[in-house]
Amino acid sequence: MYLVADISVEICASKSCKLCTQYCPEANTILYSDEMGKDRGFKYGSAYVAVDRCKGCAQCVWVCDNMAKNNAIKMIMIDQLPVAALTDNITYGEKSTTATLVSPVVG
Ligand code: SF4
Ligand code: SF4
Repeated sequence: MYLVADISVEICASKSCKLCTQYCPEANTILYSDEMGKDRGFKYGSAYVAVDRCKGCAQCVWVCDNMAKNNAIKMIMIDQLPVAALTDNITYGEKSTTATLVSPVVG
C-alpha cells in the first residue's frame, strides 16, 4: 500500500484553477474533466488523479495548498479511496475495475 493524491471534487469544482495539472511530474496523472463537477451540480469541472500513475510525491498538494490556496488535495492510502481512479492495470481488493480511466471519489 502507498499514498496517492486524492482530490476533493467539491472544493476543486468550485475553483477551476487547473494549476495542479501543470506541476505533477508524472505525465497524464493529474487530469482535468470539464464534466466531473458539472455532472454533480457544481459550477466547474474538477481535476482528478489516475492513481496507478501517481508516485506519491505530494507536489500537487503543495501547489493546491500554497499556490492556488484551495486545499483540495490530500494524500491518502490507496486502499482508502472511496472509489478509486483506476485503470485496468491495477487491482486491489474489491475496487478492481475494467474501466480505462474513471473519475475518482463519487460518494
Ligand atoms: S490546484 Fe487544487 S483547486 Fe486547482 S485544479 Fe488542482 S485540485 Fe483543483
Ligand atoms: S502526488 Fe505527485 S505524482 Fe501524484 S498526482 Fe500529485 S504531483 Fe502527481
